Amino acid sequence: TNWWANVQKGPEDPILGVSIAYNKDTSPSKINLGVGAYRDENGKPYVLECVKKADKKIYEANVDHEYAPIVGVAAFNQLAAQLALGEDCKHIKEKRIATVQSISGTGALRIAADFFARFLKGKTAYVPNPTWGNHNVIFADAGIPVKSYGYYNPSTCGLNFDAMSKDITAAPEGSIILLHACAHNPTGVDPTTEQWKKISQICKERGHFVLFDFAYQGFASGSPEKDAAAVRMFVEDGHNIALCQSFAKNFGLYGERIGAFSILTESPEQALNVESQLKILIRPMYSNPPVYGARLVQAILKDKELTNEWRSEVKGMADRIINMREQLVKYLKKHGSTRDWSHITTQIGMFCFTGLTPEQVDRLANEYHIYLTRNGRISIAGINSTNVEYLAKAMAAVTK
Ligand code: PMP
Repeated sequence: TNWWANVQKGPEDPILGVSIAYNKDTSPSKINLGVGAYRDENGKPYVLECVKKADKKIYEANVDHEYAPIVGVAAFNQLAAQLALGEDCKHIKEKRIATVQSISGTGALRIAADFFARFLKGKTAYVPNPTWGNHNVIFADAGIPVKSYGYYNPSTCGLNFDAMSKDITAAPEGSIILLHACAHNPTGVDPTTEQWKKISQICKERGHFVLFDFAYQGFASGSPEKDAAAVRMFVEDGHNIALCQSFAKNFGLYGERIGAFSILTESPEQALNVESQLKILIRPMYSNPPVYGARLVQAILKDKELTNEWRSEVKGMADRIINMREQLVKYLKKHGSTRDWSHITTQIGMFCFTGLTPEQVDRLANEYHIYLTRNGRISIAGINSTNVEYLAKAMAAVTK
């Protein structure tokens, strides 16, 4: 029997498509601004020194390769929650939190979505417009209806706070509201402290359930605490949030697939109940998570010296990105662009929504060998001192 005759070829992931086109290009001046992974000044992947040291420690400890429990490495889970919520977090101190290790941020979101499908049945999830494309698919695959709330204002390349607050207010009471904790992907636009405060109030008034996607702690401002401000504010305000963490970007552990999913609850008993159901959900998916990434992060976060080294390295990555934003604007001016490019420096994190049109993006690829997604998003991580002026010149030319 020809079992798969009805299987049609599906579309390529748009971001992977950018890399494929880039790889095919033989020009020495080609630039890949599609991929969401940090690159150093030489355009190379960056392994953090603290990770190399942790690696060595684990090797020397001659560890075994036994299974982790279903929830993963317990010490890692605790450290992960502390990093996001702060060591003084009441939920942690009072054991009112359930944390499980996850297959990076994506896996955390997938556990979240499956858990909500079981225990928040009938609720709709609201995600920002635009958002990381996978959000829509993860919720839809879990059987949760997804709608969006206004977020980005193309005419200012900034936040449309009016639409955001109106849409979140208008969402049916008790909806699931997904918020990017910092360094919004794909726009690089984050609410201000006052705006976060208002969103927190609205969510409270409307009895919404808040899910934070926290994929860039430390990567936005260079300070893990500063980047956690919104998450911690919501918890302070009394929201029992859910939290998806990724250690891909801030620890440079993309391929290790290390993350965590937490749910804050009312009581230690509730936390245990929630944890037991998370285990029931995880067991038939992948039994238990891989241990290596958890060991690395744990080795760093439990050691004061390595943690400090990590802090300075994550700040180094964030600072390089902030610096590249400034350089890009400087060279755009130098090459005669009269446009207002101030959003390049006010936006934060790995990505920048440039405001380039799909046609301009196509011209960058065809005439200048510069590759990015057609929504005009550039990954700042792909820029360095060697290519920034060339990029600025090309952007100035196609936007004339
Ligand atoms: N959420 C957001 C907003 C992201 O940008 C990413 C990474 N692209 C993730 C989650 C998850 O990434 P990972 O699964 O690699 O941790």
